Formats: sequence, C-alpha cells, structure tokens
Amino acid sequence: MAEPVAASRYSPLIILALVAALVVTIGLWARDRAGGAVATGGGTTAHAAGEAIEWKMITTWPKNFPGLGLAAENVARAVEEMSDGRLTIKVYGAGEIVPALEVFDAVSQGVVDAGHGAAYYWKGKVPSSVFFTSVPFGMNAQEMNGWLHYGGGLALWREAYAPFNLVPFAGGSTGVQMAGWFDKEINSVEDLKGLKMRIPGLAGEVFTYAGGTAVRIAGGELYTSMQTGVIDALEWVGPYNDLAFGFQEVADYYYYPGWHEPGAMLEFIVNGDSYAALPDDLKAIVEYASRAINQDMLDEYTARNNASLRSLIDDHGVQLRRLPDDVLKALWEGTKQALQQLVAEDEMAAKVYASYREFYRGARSYHHISEQAYINVRDEVFGEEEY
Ligand code: CA
Repeated sequence: MAEPVAASRYSPLIILALVAALVVTIGLWARDRAGGAVATGGGTTAHAAGEAIEWKMITTWPKNFPGLGLAAENVARAVEEMSDGRLTIKVYGAGEIVPALEVFDAVSQGVVDAGHGAAYYWKGKVPSSVFFTSVPFGMNAQEMNGWLHYGGGLALWREAYAPFNLVPFAGGSTGVQMAGWFDKEINSVEDLKGLKMRIPGLAGEVFTYAGGTAVRIAGGELYTSMQTGVIDALEWVGPYNDLAFGFQEVADYYYYPGWHEPGAMLEFIVNGDSYAALPDDLKAIVEYASRAINQDMLDEYTARNNASLRSLIDDHGVQLRRLPDDVLKALWEGTKQALQQLVAEDEMAAKVYASYREFYRGARSYHHISEQAYINVRDEVFGEEEY
C-alpha cells in the first residue's frame, strides 16, 4: 500500500516542474483570452476566437421553398444574428452544389460544412436513421421532441452518425403529415396492388408489403413524375407545402391521416471537423439556433396548414378522403414486419428502436389521460358548437 506523500518529501526539482507547469497553463489561458488558437484535437484546424467564419449549407430542397425548405435559411439567419456575424452560413438549394440525395455524403466528406434534409433519406447507409425522422404509426412531433431532447434520442442519433463524421441536430418538424396524393380513389387494400407511390423511409417498405411499389424521388422531381405518370401516388408533407408544390394540379384525391409520418422530423447535419473547429460559444449558438428553428417549423405548419387545406378544397376542387380502415390495418401489419426486419439486420437500429419504443410506450400511456383525453373531450363537449 502506498503511503501518502508528505509535503516535506517534495524535492526542489518537483517543485520547479510544478511551477513551470503553472506558468505554461497561465500562459495558454492568457493567450486564449487574447484570441489565440486552441487546438481541439482530431487534426482539426481550430478557429481563433473573434475570427469570422463562413460555412456552406446544402439542402435536399429547392432553394427558398416554403415551410421545411426555409429551415436552412432560418437557422443561418439565427446563427448570424446570435453570433453578431462571426459565423455566417451560406445556403445552397438542391442541385446547386450536389443533387438532393447526395447531401449526406457531401457534408460527411467535408465538401461543405452543413446540410438540411431528412435522416430517413440515408436509410441505405444508416438503417437506424428512420427513427430520427419518422416511422409508421410512431411518435408525433411533441413526443419526438421529448424523446430526442430528454429521452436519449439525440445522443443515439449522434452515435449513429459519428462513423460518418457528422453531428446531427433536430431540424424542424412538420407535425402529422397527409397520407398523400392519389390519381384514383383508394376504397380497399386491393386498390394498393401495383400502385407506384413515392414514399420514402421505412414506410416505403411497408407500402411494398401492403402490395404497392415504393419509389424514391427527391421533392423537386415529384410534380413532373406525377404529371407524366411515372408514379400513381405521392406523399410530400401536408397542405401548406403541398399547395405550394402544386400537386392539386396533377392529382385529384388527397388522403389522410399521415400514418407513415406522424411527426416527421427533419435534420441539420454538420461536418464533425467544421463543428469541432468552432469556439465553444459558437458551438452553443449552433445548438440553440437549431433548437429554436426546430420548434419554429412546427409553429409555422400549425399556423398555416388549415388555411391551405381550405384553399385546396374550395379553390382547387381537391377531393379530401380518409384512408379506409382495412388499408390502415394492412399498413400496420406491414409496419410490424418492416420493423422486425430492420432491427434483425442492424445492431444500431435495434438499439435505437429499444429506446424509441420504451419512450413511445410511456408517452402514449400518459397521452391517454392528457393530450388524447383532452382532444376527445373537447369534441364531445363542443358538439356542433364552436369555441
Ligand atoms: Ca413526407
């Protein structure tokens, strides 16, 4: 057992070494305060405090597209304002630097510093990514935000993206989406047979289990694909975004509910080296700005969806329909199969699913007596009356 070292046993040489270390430490601290560079490790060239930094951010959306397309611009503005211009982010739409579905690779490889898109687009590379966007019959926006920020979801997301040198942040939620646009009525599960639908993520596989064919197409190509008959159906977002895309011109039937994306969460991704090179205050600004813009998107959809739906129906003659129960049942059966296969094939997906499922069970249980109970009760007490 080692004896405690008494002060009297310190040799003059050790005292000299301690003093020297103290001097070096104070010197480094003073240089930091004066704006000197501090290496953050990993071979990253760190930015000096006060140095103006410019990032490039690419998106999977057309430039300046309403709703989800504006999140990149919004986070860029928030970061610039909060940092007093020390960090500026120039935003590029889909196709300006790389095509929409190459955003993940371009940010991972450091072609650009950051990106905005949806995690489930990268399902082929990161199977667990579907849980960070939306899974069929899964959590709504409120529950997703709770899981990511207080239930361990974001930490798992960062773990899943770490091998790609990417740091993800929640990038805005659309809330419950619409089931999508169809060129014919869907009256039973038989009507899904042979139907070609643009529907990404795990829902695409579910749709295939239910008899349809899932097609992967970026948002900017959807209108033409539907118009030319490449696809028979598509899902995009909800009334506010879909009206702006003009899908009412190429399809007659608009279906709900959004079984496939009940709380679709988008993502900001930052290249790991670009992020590590930021001084701590700018890292915090990126974190808080993305958190604010994440919530801002849900607020905007909540404010605008109803007026857009009224316009689709009243001004454009769109036929609003609910998916039949047997279709929803078939899609739920497909969801169970797709989830089972996903977790059997990928260890990280199994780990994320375990966390997601546990949180969802708790949230759903509590919502029976909170959100859900209240929404049911207000319909009952209002009857035909309005508030
Ligand atoms: Ca969607």
